[in-house]
Amino acid sequence: MKVLVTGGAGFVGSHACKALALSGHEPVVYDNLSRGHRDAARFGPLEIGDTADKTRVREVLERHRPDAVMHFAAFAAVGESVENPLLYYRNNVTGSAGLLEAVTEFGPLPFVFSSTCATYGVPDQVPIGEDHPQRPINPYGFSKLFVERMLADLGASHRLPWVALRYFNAAGSDPDGEIGERHDPETHLIPLVLEAARGGAPIQIFGTDYDTPDGTCIRDYVHVMDIADAHLRALDYLIAGGASGAFNLANERGHSVKEVIAAAERVCGRTVPVKIGARRAGDPPALVGTAARARAVLGWTPTRSGLDVQIADAWTWLRSRNR
Ligand code: UDP
Repeated sequence: MKVLVTGGAGFVGSHACKALALSGHEPVVYDNLSRGHRDAARFGPLEIGDTADKTRVREVLERHRPDAVMHFAAFAAVGESVENPLLYYRNNVTGSAGLLEAVTEFGPLPFVFSSTCATYGVPDQVPIGEDHPQRPINPYGFSKLFVERMLADLGASHRLPWVALRYFNAAGSDPDGEIGERHDPETHLIPLVLEAARGGAPIQIFGTDYDTPDGTCIRDYVHVMDIADAHLRALDYLIAGGASGAFNLANERGHSVKEVIAAAERVCGRTVPVKIGARRAGDPPALVGTAARARAVLGWTPTRSGLDVQIADAWTWLRSRNR
């Protein structure tokens, strides 16, 4: 299959492209390179453009005539979304609307959407299942929820077949070291912890007064290769006529910020300098998911589920870049 991959030059998108290429598919990357990296778009043709630019999307669809779409293009930093909400609504929501307009006119094509556990907000209980109410507490979460809503509406109005994959915290990197996580500026925990381990700035812990066993936030970390694999499974599922819907991608185990730091010290064999900071606005105390639906319906089985292997892969990537 030929698959249009928006955001294919970004972190999760580039790993999905690699997985597609390894499975004999052709990813066509559509990316404006505002945060993605040209050299990460190496598994198929690259088309530069904005998702909001419906005419350009339409042109690319006509040129490549893909069989399906995977939509990753989005900003994904919770703190930034709180500080600059309109950036998120413009890029993530308006961008998705432009893309979806072009896709429904052209297709409608099977559509796999990169969603997030941030759509749940502060959970009533963990682990969180897909039927948990979605009440985001930050603009990033809302921006993704709005797109899920668009998909549900377009499913009804235009028979758009869709899957929303709500991932918990994407972590790790391609074990081959070919591609990896590279945000600029970096805001995510694991890469910042590893930078600190290499002698960079100390990692600042955002809050030690949460109602969790060690006072720091708990997240469920999922390896980016496992996430990429789930996208392929979702695609096959839709092509086989599976019903549209949402699936969590989670390892069903939570790790606190302090546990992540301890794991990094173990994996890297180095001390990680730490600074205690205030809570970051928009952070729920604990997010842990259940992925029973993805396991049962998509046959998804994460293979790199431990924190140590995720950190080890991220560490290999980081060191290969800055030798
Ligand atoms: N975090 C932190 N210091 C940092 C970056 C993140 O303490 O410099 C915490 C953050 O508050 C959250 C967890 O690490 O509880 C994961 O944050 P990240 O930004 O990686 O992902 P998010 O959960 O926001 O999607």
